[in-house]
Amino acid sequence: MTKQKIGTLCVHAGYQPGKGEPRQMPIIQSTTFKYNTSDEMGRLFDLEDSGYFYTRLQNPTNDMVAARIAALEGGVAAMLTSSGQAANFFACFNICEAGGHMISTASIYGGTYNLFGTTFKKMGIDVTFVDQDASDEEIEAAFRPNTKLVFGETLSNPGVRVLDIERWAKIAHSHGLPLIVDNTFPTPINCRPFEWGADIVTHSTTKYMDGQGVHVGGCVVDSGNFDWEANADKFPGLCTPDPSYHGLTYTKSFGKLAYITKATSQLMRDFGCIQAPQNAFYLGLGLQTLEVRVKRHVENARKVAAYLAGNELVKWVHFSELEGDSQHELQLKYLPGGSCGVMAFAVKGDRAFANRFMDALKLITIETHVADCHTCILHPASHTHRQLTDQQLQEAGVDPDLMRLSIGLEDAEDIIADIDNALKVACEG
Ligand SMILES: *Cc1c(COP(=O)(O)O)cnc(C)c1O
Repeated sequence: MTKQKIGTLCVHAGYQPGKGEPRQMPIIQSTTFKYNTSDEMGRLFDLEDSGYFYTRLQNPTNDMVAARIAALEGGVAAMLTSSGQAANFFACFNICEAGGHMISTASIYGGTYNLFGTTFKKMGIDVTFVDQDASDEEIEAAFRPNTKLVFGETLSNPGVRVLDIERWAKIAHSHGLPLIVDNTFPTPINCRPFEWGADIVTHSTTKYMDGQGVHVGGCVVDSGNFDWEANADKFPGLCTPDPSYHGLTYTKSFGKLAYITKATSQLMRDFGCIQAPQNAFYLGLGLQTLEVRVKRHVENARKVAAYLAGNELVKWVHFSELEGDSQHELQLKYLPGGSCGVMAFAVKGDRAFANRFMDALKLITIETHVADCHTCILHPASHTHRQLTDQQLQEAGVDPDLMRLSIGLEDAEDIIADIDNALKVACEG
């Protein structure tokens, strides 16, 4: 069969029922799995046979959904995690431990910024943040002998800047290092980072992949393209024997599946950030409609962005699809079919005006969330990023005026009418 199109993969990848089996992917709501002999079970613990034995490590529902996401991204293997935070933690910690160093773009999700800048430091991992539009020379200057990976977001949250994936991948690879890309906002419908040279992709599945706002989850996907063995001295965890599995070496035993197998058998075993099978089921349902929904999010966002850009009470709008936007060229290259439903904008006037505007919204809700069917708004400097200083805000690419607007699946006319009304109310003081 020829390679299926992405809309077909959304519905079918990862689960094809046999005769008399459920049409919808089943939830395997079971902690453990039965074996007949002690030896059968023992072989699983030695990673000599593959099979399920305890849901903290692997569960069939989770694996079906992970396989669906791997197919959408064009990767060889994936694992689900309990949250997007856990996904980014595992993706990095799998290859970067105490004594290691990593480079991250600076304009990233606030939670990830904290994880890297604060918690990783406590774990003995140093992170250098670099502006994603810095020159090659400036990026080069951040590398150290103990650097293990480079990290960025395809579309940054909340600034919605577009990462020049090809350029960053080339630089990472020239140092023998992988590029990890958080692809939460575009989803594989609008961008597949592996096609541009990224090696590992992460997701907060909490966002568009779920799309209804019912679960918190994450995913790590491996392209299978990075040659760990060629840089074995940098990645001893993958390329030398693991004493916790009787001296097995992941690259030798699992080839292209080494990275995900290590993440599952070491990190999931020890940290236990598993996605509940029930949540994986919701995620699988969400994925079935991902292509249809993402298209509608984008269409709606285009209409709202055009309205905001033409409103005299609006100071600026950042939406990469707008001509003249600083990110427009990169958007045409990496996100030609559309970016996502999230945009950033600021209103003219002071903080009090902005607050009156947000408080006057009726359909649009103030929420610490983005990227589901409900349109919502957030002011990062007052909400998600409030623990950052003004300088850290600037470094994270977050303008103190910036409001993040996530366009849902309602009718665009109603969304625009709500914004229009709230701006009028705010003007009345
Ligand atoms: C939300 C988000 C995360 C964190 O995901 P959770 O599921 O909330 O843990 C990571 N990266 C990006 C880009 C996000 O938008």
